[in-house]
Amino acid sequence: MIDAGKLTEEFGSLVFNDKVMRERLPKDIYKAVHKTIEKGTHLELDVANCVAATMKEWAIENGATHFTHWFQPMTGLTAEKHDSFISPLDDGRIIMEFSGKELVKGEPDASSFPSGGLRATFEARGYTAWDPSSPAFIKDGSLYIPTAFCSYGGEALDKKTPLLRSMEALSNEAVKMLHLLGYEDVNRVNTTIGSEQEYFLIDKDFYKQRKDLLFTGRTLIGAPATKGQEMEDHYFGVIKPKVSAYMHDLDEELWKLGIPAKTKHNEVAPSQHELAPVFETANIAVDHNQLTMEVMKKVADKHNYACLLHEKPFEGINGSGKHNNWSICTDTGMNLLDPGKNPGENIPFLVFLMSVIAAVDEYAPILRLSVASAGNDHRLGGNEAPPAIISIFVGDELAEVLKGVEEGAAYKSQGKVQMAMGATVLPHFTKDNTDRNRTSPFAFTGNKFEFRMPGSSVSVANANIVLNTAVAEEVAKLYEKLSSYSGDELKEKVMEILKETLAEHKRVLFNGNGYTDEWVEEAAKRGLPNLKSLPDAMPYWISDESIELFTRHGIFTKEEIHSRYEILLENYSKSIHIEALTMQEMVRKDLTEGIIAYEKDLSKEILQKREAIEGAACTLETGILKSLDDASAKMCSALKTLADDTKEAEKKVEALETASYYQSTVLKDMEELRKYADEAEALIPDKYLSYPTYGQMLFSLR
Ligand code: ADP
Ligand code: MG
Repeated sequence: MIDAGKLTEEFGSLVFNDKVMRERLPKDIYKAVHKTIEKGTHLELDVANCVAATMKEWAIENGATHFTHWFQPMTGLTAEKHDSFISPLDDGRIIMEFSGKELVKGEPDASSFPSGGLRATFEARGYTAWDPSSPAFIKDGSLYIPTAFCSYGGEALDKKTPLLRSMEALSNEAVKMLHLLGYEDVNRVNTTIGSEQEYFLIDKDFYKQRKDLLFTGRTLIGAPATKGQEMEDHYFGVIKPKVSAYMHDLDEELWKLGIPAKTKHNEVAPSQHELAPVFETANIAVDHNQLTMEVMKKVADKHNYACLLHEKPFEGINGSGKHNNWSICTDTGMNLLDPGKNPGENIPFLVFLMSVIAAVDEYAPILRLSVASAGNDHRLGGNEAPPAIISIFVGDELAEVLKGVEEGAAYKSQGKVQMAMGATVLPHFTKDNTDRNRTSPFAFTGNKFEFRMPGSSVSVANANIVLNTAVAEEVAKLYEKLSSYSGDELKEKVMEILKETLAEHKRVLFNGNGYTDEWVEEAAKRGLPNLKSLPDAMPYWISDESIELFTRHGIFTKEEIHSRYEILLENYSKSIHIEALTMQEMVRKDLTEGIIAYEKDLSKEILQKREAIEGAACTLETGILKSLDDASAKMCSALKTLADDTKEAEKKVEALETASYYQSTVLKDMEELRKYADEAEALIPDKYLSYPTYGQMLFSLR
């Protein structure tokens, strides 16, 4: 258990952060590094050499023997290859070395990372390049250096490079706009992200007994437990002692790595939990989220749990997401999405708010795609999750503000409303300007937007790349319309242009319940896309509109866009392929074994009973046997269909066609098979099954 008194010292103790650099680097070197971090200037080799030497010294003091360039290839996971600091001397001894060159650049053999056709396997060379804006840290005896990853030809092969590019693009456009609006002291604008991470914990032994969880991260069969989440007794419920010990340990590990874990609670589904950090600059937040997921799994293992990060580990109860809280903040400390006291007259706020509204409407399909994965497809449109339609919730006050823009009459704030709870002993406080809306996929929440569609298991880089770029584009468009005006004329023009922009994009605003069928109908009338699956959405990624957007802002080249298209589709098809095979094996072997064993015992029981009681009816036993026989017959036929169609899928070549086939045929077969498999499983006592049931997995945490 962490010593609370020592926490301020322990926080970030494994991080080569600003404080360590300030203490250990010569002043001029520290300044040079700072300039690189703040302004993105190039770092000279002598500076890199000095930083490397200091880093090595610090890392060794903290127990590190190795260093690794840590990067995020397009698998969506992180990658690392470790080199020790040792360098042998002639006399058999060693010295510990780490040069500036080794810090700045790495050359991993990149041939086995997905490149989507950007690089043939024989062109193996890839480079990793140090990202000084995300601090290095120590984990498992290695110094981890966050890096970007690109091919020999300079194409991005990772998630960090385009994210950094998109942050810069948004900053450039925002600074231009702010200068025009009279905020000339702003030099840079930062994207900030807080990503709330949902996860499930289950007993590790249960996890190991299920092939579906081991191979695919989600359960592919499993009759529902007699209790689900209908009592809503888990959400914010008392955290059980063993789970609480896990959460303490997790916090401690994260804090040492400088990850500002802040909030923890039980989520809606049984055995589901959430962790939210304090928000940080986008690229650090993304790195930290990747690390958080890894540490969650590692700490779970120590506590005899398995941490499930899949978007839909269990059928019939809520899945897990990763709410992406997003805002933009100037280097002068101004949050551009903070409405302030008088939002109706807060021009920068209105300009950036409108840019976000326009961006989300205009690029909805690409935004939808940025969160698409085989796992997340199960979640979008499900019970708790937002539907696949993208709309924006702005809340009551902003709705009034926008009405003011529309009608040309600036909205006057009503001031804060006092909240009195009817008992004098309770404190009085001011009420928020708007209630929450849990059903909106993109909700304004006071001074930021919360994008609720991202899935729990994947990097949030993609979502933020698209968001940053789309908003940069809309800010640029507004700038173009306004740049020739100044003074009072500019003020008038701003309101006129905002009104026009609102008229064009207000169809995306929706404050009602996003989970109803009426909304689906209404959204269709408004012309809002409802892209239910990854293959449905994929063509938008390589559309002219998308290519223009990304190339104009220097985020992706056309080739990079196409490579990502190939990788996403391939990844999708492969995931479902593995699921289909795993499901077949589980049904054919594990479930069938249970069915046969139980049937055998039942049949024996009937014979014995009839020997003992002549003419015994055996209604119960024969009834179960009959039901089991019916279910298993249907199961058998569905199994054959799935097996045939999976073989058929293997023959397909073209990426989109293959993915569509997996989506429309193989997934449907799996659903059908599951129906009968679950029907059979529900008839069998637990002891006949070689794997744990839903009830055991979901309700056994202490
Ligand atoms: P809730 O579950 O009620 O939405 P949480 O506290 O779980 O709220 O998560 C809110 C997240 O939003 C936190 O990670 C928080 O740090 C983050 N956040 C707050 N302000 C900003 C901001 N300006 N930019 C980005 N994220 C922010
Ligand atoms: Mg939360």
